[in-house]
Amino acid sequence: MQDFSFYNPTRIEFGAGKIARLDALVPANARVLVLLGGESARRSGTLDEVLTALGEREVQVFNGIEPNPSFETLMKAVDQVREQQLDYLLAVGGGSVIDGTKFVAAAALFNGDAWDILLQGGQNVTSALPFGSVLTLPATGSEMNKGSVITRKSLAAKLPFASEHVYPQFSILDPVKTYTLPPRQIANGVVDAFMHVIEQYLTYPAEAPVQDRFAEGLLQTLIEVGPKALANPEDYQTRASLMWTATLALNGLIGSGVPQDWATHMLGHELTALHGLDHAQTLAIILPEMLRQRKAAKLGKLVQYAERVWNIDTGSDDDKAETAIECTRDFFEAVGVKTRLSDYGLGAEHIDNIIDSLTNHGMTKLGEHNDVTPEHCRQILLASI
Ligand code: NAP
Ligand code: FE
Repeated sequence: MQDFSFYNPTRIEFGAGKIARLDALVPANARVLVLLGGESARRSGTLDEVLTALGEREVQVFNGIEPNPSFETLMKAVDQVREQQLDYLLAVGGGSVIDGTKFVAAAALFNGDAWDILLQGGQNVTSALPFGSVLTLPATGSEMNKGSVITRKSLAAKLPFASEHVYPQFSILDPVKTYTLPPRQIANGVVDAFMHVIEQYLTYPAEAPVQDRFAEGLLQTLIEVGPKALANPEDYQTRASLMWTATLALNGLIGSGVPQDWATHMLGHELTALHGLDHAQTLAIILPEMLRQRKAAKLGKLVQYAERVWNIDTGSDDDKAETAIECTRDFFEAVGVKTRLSDYGLGAEHIDNIIDSLTNHGMTKLGEHNDVTPEHCRQILLASI
């Protein structure tokens, strides 16, 4: 096991009806900005529940954070916070709203051009407004981590930042709030959470048996509950398992003391920035060929993944790795996320541009060994058509 420092200050309030806890969780004298995506929170009644729970507090609402939240939109929220002297943020939505709120929290107190937060990956963030979240979409883990990914439309750039100042103070996880999700978003959530585990698990053997078994348990749970969550949208226990699994997949726990990869995510961000694909769609396309391209370096862990997660016990090590890669692809397809670039209308003619953009964003040494180059990424994309 590697040395690590683990810190996670986010309180989780889990269960049906927990939105009522907002009254106890948000300071009584707070001047609150509630941040929303499009229409879903209003339509489902979640916004009303939130406003009721906030009671007599001074509350303003910022509507319109889009999927893959944009710098351009979020800077309008920053202006509102500053002009109206608001001092507490509450994200109500999925990963995009929570990521966006993290950026607003940091940017509102940042001196200088707030895009620098992304250019420096958050290392220049020294403070942020306090905030909490009401999660409506199990997927990203943003509700219990310090990461955020922001898109600047004018530059076709999607960049991550991380800072200990942007952990939510609390997150409310009510599985009932996921009942209104369309199948596409449940499928995306299952794939994204699965990928978060894979990025922290499928590296090289790190003599970290407890992290491995946590990770394998999360993967097996997703394989089990993903299809059920799609088939029975109002099965509370299934949605509860999915929601907590997605949070645990990226709250720092399984990633402590082990190498981390993230190459699939970084290449995927370019596909979203340039072609507008959903985050999870990009991951489902890239992962199978990413694993095949790096099979030699990851072989030990791929065999462990094959045996323990997919119960594959016959064939050579190479056979097991290959079968596990195809089981993974089949799983993504089975929940409804297509795994080929051509499924999204993209072909070889787009790849040069994607690789140029990856290079321009400094993503030239990816993966747990920093040895995944733009040229490898080109081969991976070509094989993914
Ligand atoms: P999302 O972009 O937050 O939401 C996708 C869609 O789901 C939106 O159209 C939203 O509609 C709708 N929606 C949300 N909750 C709903 C509900 N309960 N009922 C019906 N519709 C609902 O999706 P996401 O997958 O959670 O977030 C993706 C973003 O997170 C990407 O930008 C990705 O890069 C990022 N990400 C962050 C991390 C991290 O650690 N911070 C990790 C992975 C990915 P409305 O807009 O109308 O609400
Ligand atoms: Fe992700």
